[in-house]
Amino acid sequence: MAEPNAASAPAASPAGGPSHAVMATYARQNIVFERGAGCWLTTVNGDRYLDFGSGVAVNALGHAHPHLVSALTEQAGKLWHTSNLYRVAGQERLADRLCQSTFADKVFFCNSGAEACEGAIKAARRYHFTKGNPERWRIITFHGAFHGRTLTALSAAGNPQYLEGFGEPAGGFDHVAFADHEAIEAAITEETAAIMIEPVQGEGGVRILPPQCLAGLRELCDKHGLLLILDEVQTGVGRTGTFFAHEQAGIVPDLMAVAKGIGGGFPLGAILATEDAASGMVAGTHGSTFGGNPLAMAVANAVLDVVLADGFLEEVARKSGRLRQGLAEIEDEYSDLVAEVRVAGLLTGFKLRDHVKPAAVVSASLAENLLVVGASDNVVRILPPLIVSQEEIAEGLSRLKRALAGVRRTST
Ligand SMILES: *Cc1c(COP(=O)(O)O)cnc(C)c1O
Repeated sequence: MAEPNAASAPAASPAGGPSHAVMATYARQNIVFERGAGCWLTTVNGDRYLDFGSGVAVNALGHAHPHLVSALTEQAGKLWHTSNLYRVAGQERLADRLCQSTFADKVFFCNSGAEACEGAIKAARRYHFTKGNPERWRIITFHGAFHGRTLTALSAAGNPQYLEGFGEPAGGFDHVAFADHEAIEAAITEETAAIMIEPVQGEGGVRILPPQCLAGLRELCDKHGLLLILDEVQTGVGRTGTFFAHEQAGIVPDLMAVAKGIGGGFPLGAILATEDAASGMVAGTHGSTFGGNPLAMAVANAVLDVVLADGFLEEVARKSGRLRQGLAEIEDEYSDLVAEVRVAGLLTGFKLRDHVKPAAVVSASLAENLLVVGASDNVVRILPPLIVSQEEIAEGLSRLKRALAGVRRTST
């Protein structure tokens, strides 16, 4: 018999062993943070860590940004939730601003990246359906992709490791090699509705799609009457140095999934669409109970105040240059461990040589009070908040060098 869950039992100390009540779907570090400010996190024991993971590209403006804190607390005293049965002022303001600063004419708000990806897939299928082509429902997607953990998002990405044990994958996805233009064109049939791709594969290991390839995909879509869906959940909201990554390729998508950075740490996702691509999404075709609730809208509007302010994105690009330079030095100094540096704005990382695993570098960095994040393709991601200072970049790089020196000692 299990022990009775008596109310009088002492609560597990956050600094003690972890509670078994949390489903063990993550292999978590045994560390509990209590507060944060800017790029720094403090544990319940008072230890300070430099956060170069940003909660996996979420905390775009770091922790406890005063403008975000005041936007959230002010809204919290007024109104939390009304449902989407009524107009929501913050949604209208945020949607207007997103449309003014991107290709989009229409925005749908949801709560996560997976939900944004699924919604974009639904919109693409529904577009062809309402144009009288219901047979066009298949979507071309890419090896190494990540679109979230719902069954359809997993089926879209097609990673067998994540699909195992969950039954028949959802149909309608054709997987081709990342950035292989010929394979993509060969995969297009009379049933193809759209091509869906990340401008930079984040979870896939900071694999950067060359801008000319993105432009080539746009041409292919135009030629065959397909919609181009970009998953900018990780690359968006300034992460790669422009508001959205596709701007650097000089093209626009028809549909775009957004999440992570847009809420600055508050859960929020969005589907952005052109008028035409959104034309199938009429009343009753899609919905979300929490999507676009007033709290999320207040925070996201505050995020845009900062990210879209004059000079902010230029500053991100400058910081990226400094980080690139430091990572290139690391590649030279630690060429026995580091095979390749990958940089897209502040979405950066390095691929390790085969005998070293990302987990070893993540642990060694933790020992230097530095947070970094692993990825597929044997990559370690460095994702500082966009508000990181030049001094903090230098500090992070020196901690990273010490961590790699530690890995070198134990791996030889
Ligand atoms: C994180 C991520 C997702 C999934 O987002 P969730 O909020 O975890 O559902 C989808 N696409 C990309 C590119 C991501 O990086």
